[in-house]
Amino acid sequence: MKIIFATGNENKVKEIRKILDDPGIDILTMKEAGCVCDPDENGTTFGENALIKCRALAALLPDRSADTVIMSDDSGLCIDALGGEPGIHSARFMGHETSYDIKNRELIRRLEGVEGGQRSARFECAAAAILSDGSELLCTGKMEGLIAMEPSGANGFGYDPILYLPQYGCTSAEISEEEKNAISHRGAALRGLRELLREKGL
Ligand code: IMP
Repeated sequence: MKIIFATGNENKVKEIRKILDDPGIDILTMKEAGCVCDPDENGTTFGENALIKCRALAALLPDRSADTVIMSDDSGLCIDALGGEPGIHSARFMGHETSYDIKNRELIRRLEGVEGGQRSARFECAAAAILSDGSELLCTGKMEGLIAMEPSGANGFGYDPILYLPQYGCTSAEISEEEKNAISHRGAALRGLRELLREKGL
């Protein structure tokens, strides 16, 4: 199977290769497949945005072989006490140029006075696929935690330093890449999608 992933981010594809961990699957970025697209992610859910990216790339590659799958994902941090924000706006929260150190400290500041279980939050991910016959598949995953009182840890990226994982007693930026892939929102969504593809004979 060949997967063309609707991202220009080489690191994302490296992470996906590790999660799917299958030498029989060739995973390419859209650039490696000779395509570039940057559609307006104007959906209202992670699933809608994942499908928007997938459909835009599929439209650029109309004559796909039966074993070629177009894939994409969309993800973010949802904080209950902030009504689910930054949610689908996670990447653009406070602007793309603002450092995650500043974004993380701002989110902690907004939770001043919010205690214990009220600080519940999760990373969410939707992974989408479009097959050569145009059929669409969607799978979601979550990683539950609490917003930490202080950022902590240097692993991972983005909001990892502020999602405290009670079962590990540390943040998502303090567990190893392998541990995170085994429990992460993206890991769950992509493994779920892999299973749906198997059911389709791929
Ligand atoms: P996208 O799915 O590449 O559009 O990413 C959305 C944004 O959500 C990222 O830029 C991060 O800010 C945040 N995010 C998604 N997954 C993670 C994660 O595993 N750790 C930390 N931040 C994440």
